[in-house]
Amino acid sequence: MDSIATRIERVRERIAAAAKRAGRSPDDIRLVGVSKTHPPELVAQAIAAGLCDFGENRVQEAEPKIAALAAERSSLRWHLIGHLQSNKAKRAAALFDLIHSVDSLPLAEALARGVRSWEPGVGSPTSNSRLLTPNSFAILLQVNVSGEASKDGFDLASWEARPDRLDGFYADVERVLALPQLRVGGLMTIAPWGDDPALARPTFRSAQRLRDVLARRFPAADWSALSMGMTDDFEVAIEEGATIVRVGRAIFGSRELKVES
Ligand SMILES: *Cc1c(COP(=O)(O)O)cnc(C)c1O
Repeated sequence: MDSIATRIERVRERIAAAAKRAGRSPDDIRLVGVSKTHPPELVAQAIAAGLCDFGENRVQEAEPKIAALAAERSSLRWHLIGHLQSNKAKRAAALFDLIHSVDSLPLAEALARGVRSWEPGVGSPTSNSRLLTPNSFAILLQVNVSGEASKDGFDLASWEARPDRLDGFYADVERVLALPQLRVGGLMTIAPWGDDPALARPTFRSAQRLRDVLARRFPAADWSALSMGMTDDFEVAIEEGATIVRVGRAIFGSRELKVES
């Protein structure tokens, strides 16, 4: 099997090629290595190969992993990409640099409370202070534009034909943007599962259009990030405007013999 360093290099080459096809700079695309189910030793190999962004989908799995790599903490960015329960919001806010999977107003409100509870003097963690100024925790809003029932996210299936859905989302977004503890940076989406990456294209295109619509409606907020694309479809995602790709298997290998969430 190839080394992790070789795999990362290959993924970076594919990112650069996809960016070139789309007339974009590869520097505008951040590679997040999705390390869920893999041990810290493997993450350490990826760090040695120059990767600094890692994605996990469960708080309870990430907590010991991030602790095991505490010596590297200041040069790493940890991303939560899986569904988060409100009762774990405070722990997540203390662990991660960016939460991609904010998929409801109640979760955003729980996160805001979690962030507020560790303002300076109230035992604020120093671990992720580089990206987190108190009162400003970076999040993305996860949107479900494909309508696949199994996907989390704000329900925006066929949003272009459903003004009611869009209006409901606008109302939620307005309230999220009003939470001073949170800083929205853009959107995250997951394409429907399938063998053909071309099938993911309409989903990615729809997410990018939605992002542009939000940027016009809420111009004071930052909508620059588009987190989309995984091992099977990251090149298509880059062609459709992804600024963050979340790649697991192409870097760390198969997860099939491991316990999934
Ligand atoms: C697991 C996961 C990934 C990575 O998937 P791969 O197919 O291994 O690249 C990306 N995003 C999310 C939300 C995931 O849960």
